[in-house]
Amino acid sequence: MAKIIGVLAVQGDFALHRKMLDKIGVSSVVVRTAEDLKNCDALIMPGGESTTFLKLLNRNNMFDDVREFAENKPVMGTCAGLIVLAKNVVNDTFTTLSLLDISVERNGYGRQIDSFIDDVIVPVFKEKNKFSGVFIRAPRIISIGKNVEPVGFYNDEIVMVKSNNILALTFHPELTEDTRIHRYFLKEFVDKI
Ligand code: GLN
Repeated sequence: MAKIIGVLAVQGDFALHRKMLDKIGVSSVVVRTAEDLKNCDALIMPGGESTTFLKLLNRNNMFDDVREFAENKPVMGTCAGLIVLAKNVVNDTFTTLSLLDISVERNGYGRQIDSFIDDVIVPVFKEKNKFSGVFIRAPRIISIGKNVEPVGFYNDEIVMVKSNNILALTFHPELTEDTRIHRYFLKEFVDKI
């Protein structure tokens, strides 16, 4: 049976993730309620504002459902999505899903350079390993746990990680025309393409 990819659509730039999946030829559904999530085999958690995200997950009574889902089904979190998945946020006190063993700093690249585009190196992409990283008020990964594998780098910093069923990145692949990271997620995590 065809696998159903959900895009969490309580907040943030979910539409562009869906557009990216369209481009690859994979259909997706929007997830706004716990009921919507029940039909999904994988979930993308987009960028946006992590505080608002968490507030809305709670308000829609779906915090526990999303956490249960992300415990073992394929999930890709980008930017705020990564923060929501992280175990530890060093400069905030909100309760995250706490599933990905990393410490992160919100807005970790400072105010004066809230946003920038620069090359990220993704070694699994072999000789064409450069990916244009769009960082928008991006979080900074401060440390990772021993079961977390770094898979993307910006200079000497880790900006993309995988851990079991979770792929998470601090930048926005959906804001480029480059479908490789979405394809990587679909192929390696969802077994979809
Ligand atoms: N700065 C945002 C936060 O802390 C994340 C920004 C983004 O998702 N582009 O949640």
